[in-house]
Amino acid sequence: MYQRIILKLSGEAMKGNTNYGIDPKTVHNIALEIKEIYALGVQIGVVIGAGNLWRGVIGEELGMDRAQADYMGMLGTIMNGLALQDALEGIDVPSRVMSAINVSEVAEPYIRRRAIRHLEKGRVTIFVGGTGSPYFSTDTAAGLRAAEIGADTILMAKNGVEGVYDKDPKKFADAVLYNELTLQEVLEKNLLVMDSTAASICKDNKINIIVFDMNKKGNIKKAVMGEKLGTVVKWEEK
Ligand code: UDP
Repeated sequence: MYQRIILKLSGEAMKGNTNYGIDPKTVHNIALEIKEIYALGVQIGVVIGAGNLWRGVIGEELGMDRAQADYMGMLGTIMNGLALQDALEGIDVPSRVMSAINVSEVAEPYIRRRAIRHLEKGRVTIFVGGTGSPYFSTDTAAGLRAAEIGADTILMAKNGVEGVYDKDPKKFADAVLYNELTLQEVLEKNLLVMDSTAASICKDNKINIIVFDMNKKGNIKKAVMGEKLGTVVKWEEK
């Protein structure tokens, strides 16, 4: 069993069956799944995205300045993080929100040593604000935080997708699921699982990633217990 993990939740995971925004019932269910692994004594850092609210690239397509649009995306992650904290507290799981962007009224600033202390004390620590810089993704933030806190692995929870495929399974019925891959292959084949910056930071820092579908109940626990699930993306060459 993994001792300290980063759980990467895409913003999409927060919207449930709605098209947009935050569905509190869905967030409550995510919190229940997190509670299961919390109860096992796993130290849990969560990095949360904002695709349910906003993406910088959408703003750019609509004619906005990219950096400005990216900052809006980072603010979106803070809203998601607060929603998750609310749901965790509602089921008696202690948590802290740490932000890469200063919003001291609602979240602590991200300070690495303090984050490690929270984890050691058994608080689910929710990292929001991405990396704090535009032109990055929250997948990159997950790689960065995993490296900084010395996480055993990143559990990359996808919304309704089993793992990594050779092509987009939502568009191609004959898409093939990989059981195992290397980050080098992700980079070479330009696989859609994460951007190249995120893949590089994980590869350079020897971080394995487990990509799995979090819409299936119990999958987060299975992933933590090291059960075979989804796609394992390894940092090392085969
Ligand atoms: N973002 C950013 N810097 C970061 C992380 C995120 O600028 O370090 C912005 C970016 O605009 C991105 C948005 O926040 O589109 C939401 O993050 P992401 O797309 O990674 O969310 P997810 O796909 O996980 O829901």
